[in-house]
Amino acid sequence: MTIIKDNLATVELQILQACQQASRARDEVCLLAVSKTKPAADIEQAYQAGQRAFGESYVQEAVDKIIQLQHLKDIDWHFIGPIQSNKTRQIAEHFSWVHSIDRIKIAKRLNEQRCHQDTPLNICLQVNISNENSKSGVTIDELDELTEYIDSCENLILRGLMAIPQKNAQQESFDKMHQLFDQYQNKYPQMDTLSMGMSADLHPAIKAGSTMIRIGSAIFGARNY
Ligand SMILES: *Cc1c(COP(=O)(O)O)cnc(C)c1O
Repeated sequence: MTIIKDNLATVELQILQACQQASRARDEVCLLAVSKTKPAADIEQAYQAGQRAFGESYVQEAVDKIIQLQHLKDIDWHFIGPIQSNKTRQIAEHFSWVHSIDRIKIAKRLNEQRCHQDTPLNICLQVNISNENSKSGVTIDELDELTEYIDSCENLILRGLMAIPQKNAQQESFDKMHQLFDQYQNKYPQMDTLSMGMSADLHPAIKAGSTMIRIGSAIFGARNY
C-alpha cells in the first residue's frame, strides 16, 4: 500500500538533489506522474500522497480512469502519447495538457473540439531531437510553422516543448532542447514548459533546464505491456 508513497518520496529526493547540483530552485521543476497501464487505484494512492499531475499515453484507457477518478477534482491530466485523429475529441474533452503535438492537422482538430471548455488546452510540441526516422515529433525545421499555427488557435495555448531523446545521446539532446526552448521563449513569452526527463534520465534533464519531468516506472513500478 505504501510503496507508491515511498517511491514518490524517493523521486522527490532525486529531484531535490538534481536541482541542488544544477543550482536551480526545486519549484522550477514539476513532477508529472506517468500512470499509463496502471490502475486507477494506483493513481489514487499517488493522489493521497499529494501528487496532482498525471500523464497518460493511451486514450481509451486514460478516459476510463479519468471517469473513475472524477471525485478527485483537482487532478491535472496530461496526454503524452501518440495521437490518432479519431481520438482528438476525447483528448480535447478530458485533458488539460497535451505534450505530443507534432502536426497541424491534429492541432486544428483539438482547437475545434476544445471550444466547449472554459479553458484553453495547454500545448507542448514534441520535437524529434535525435532525428530518428521512427520517432514521432517535429523536426527543428518544421517548428516555426507549427508554433505559429498553435499561437493562432483560440482554444490552444502554446506552453512549451517536449522531447524523448535517443538512449545514447541524452545530454546532448537535452542541451539542444534547452537552446531551442530559449529561442522560442523569446518569441512566445507565455512558453514556460520544457518537458523532458524520464525515470532513467531525470538528472541530466534537470541539469539541462527541464521544467517538467515525466516519471512512470520509478513511481508506479515496471510496466507489463
Ligand atoms: C512512458 C513514458 C514516460 C515515463 O517513462 P518511465 O521510464 O517509466 O519513467 C515518459 N514520457 C513518455 C512520453 C512516456 O511514454
